[in-house]
Formats: sequence, C-alpha cells, structure tokens
Amino acid sequence: MNSRTELRVLLDRKEIETAVRRLASEISQDYRNKNPLLLGILRGSFVFLADLIRHLDFPLEIDFIGLSSYGSSTQTSGKIKVMKKLETPVRDRHVLVVEDIVDTGLTTAFLLAYLHRRKPASMKLCALTNKPSRRKVPVDIDYIGFTVPNKFLVGYGLDANQKFRNLPDICYLEDKA
Ligand code: 5GP
Repeated sequence: MNSRTELRVLLDRKEIETAVRRLASEISQDYRNKNPLLLGILRGSFVFLADLIRHLDFPLEIDFIGLSSYGSSTQTSGKIKVMKKLETPVRDRHVLVVEDIVDTGLTTAFLLAYLHRRKPASMKLCALTNKPSRRKVPVDIDYIGFTVPNKFLVGYGLDANQKFRNLPDICYLEDKA
C-alpha cells in the first residue's frame, strides 16, 4: 500500500462469521462420522480454517500444505511450488481442502491433482471466496462462502506482501479518488 491507495471493506467480520457458520453446517451434514482430514493451504487459509473447525463438533484432523503461486507482487506467476509438504498420509482418507480464495484456479487444480495421485477415499473443496472472473482452469468448488469481484483482497488471512493478514474484515486496496 502506498499513499495513493486505501483499504475498503468488502466483507465485514459479521458477514464472514455468518458464512463460516453456514459452511460449517453444510460440512457437518456431509462429514460427521467420517473423521475427515481438513487440509488448509498455507498461508492464506489459516484464519478461515481456525474459525471453521470451531463450528465442527465431530472428530476430525487437520494438516497444512504450503503452496505458493504469487511472488511479492499481486500478479500470479502461474507456477505452483510446494513450500511445505503434507505430514499426514491421505490414502483412504476423506480429504476436505480448505482454501481462502480460488482465483485463476491454478493452485487448487494443482493441489487436487497432487492429492488424487495419493488416492484419498474422497476429496472435496471448500473455498471462503471465489473469484470466477479470473479463472484459467475449471475448478469444482463444493462449498463456497462468497463470490467476489475482480479485486485484490486482503485481510482474514489474505496478504499483500505478507501484510494485512491480521485484519478481521476482508478488504480491498483501491486507488484514492
Ligand atoms: P489461484 O491459483 O486460484 O490463482 O490463486 C490461489 C492463491 O492465490 C490463493 O490461495 C491466494 O494465496 C492467492 N490469491 C488469489 N487472489 C488473491 C487476492 O485477491 N488476494 C490475495 N491476498 N491473494 C490472492
């Protein structure tokens, strides 16, 4: 952010909490008694995953995979790298991938193919936000919090150059009028 840009709220904390509760209720219907593995994609999904699991009152496990598609700019490089490997074997597990945002779809498509090779019992995707206007590869999202416009979002785990992850609302950066 420079002196010519400002933060504007797109989704405030109340709206986010309502969406998280709705998603948790949908997930509960499908995963109770399945001991699912919830797999958060680092780093952006850690806040969402932390809030989501506190509304799930059945046995589950969590793990994280570190993937990186963005460098230090707000433009995707298109290349996905595994920065931190999974520690839990996914073979024969019911895996629910928890993502902060699906944008071009490249990260999620990469991860779903990566997991598929490891033969989970089932695999679904939950995304807090979906930015369909920038999609480059098709991705089926099973649980969606919000469909968002083509803006660069920060807050609630999402960063710009590693800043703003701690904002409780989801905001966007806008040029000052
Ligand atoms: P995709 O591979 O779908 O283009 O992007 C997925 C990843 O890119 C997300 O997990 C997130 O880390 C990053 N990303 C995509 N759009 C945004 C955005 O609007 N704001 C931020 N902070 N990161 C984004």
